[in-house]
Amino acid sequence: MPPNILGVVKMELDSLYQEVILDHYKHPQHKGLNSTFDAQVHHVNTSCGDEVTLNINLDGYCITSLSWDGQGCSISQASVSMMSDLLTGKTLEEAAFIVKNFIDLMGSKGTSIGDPLILEDAVAFAGVSKFPGRVKCALLGWMAYKDVAIQAQAKN
Ligand code: ZN
Repeated sequence: MPPNILGVVKMELDSLYQEVILDHYKHPQHKGLNSTFDAQVHHVNTSCGDEVTLNINLDGYCITSLSWDGQGCSISQASVSMMSDLLTGKTLEEAAFIVKNFIDLMGSKGTSIGDPLILEDAVAFAGVSKFPGRVKCALLGWMAYKDVAIQAQAKN
């Protein structure tokens, strides 16, 4: 085994992750706002100019739909896409656990690889945590989710 094999594997993982992120950016999931919703929020990341509008539909404690529209960098838009895909069909409690896990990962400064059993494709953002300037991009949709979930529960 060549001594630099781990470095090669790491590079391949990085490019795989970049592909996952680009795929969500080019083919966003759940994009296009539902006309009816339980709550709606609009969040902006001023440091990069990213924007997202997020709608949530609840059936009791279950998230039946998350729909969104937005614009901005590939990290922000791909992250919203993955978040809405991951949290749709979950209970509010499950979603809160997943969101906390993602926020912890983004705070890890590159020391965590993330748990794919909890975050699935969203572990692709693990490398972003090394770049403080991009963490807000990755977190935009997840912070919007936290906000919209609180507003929808306050209403119900
Ligand atoms: Zn951005």
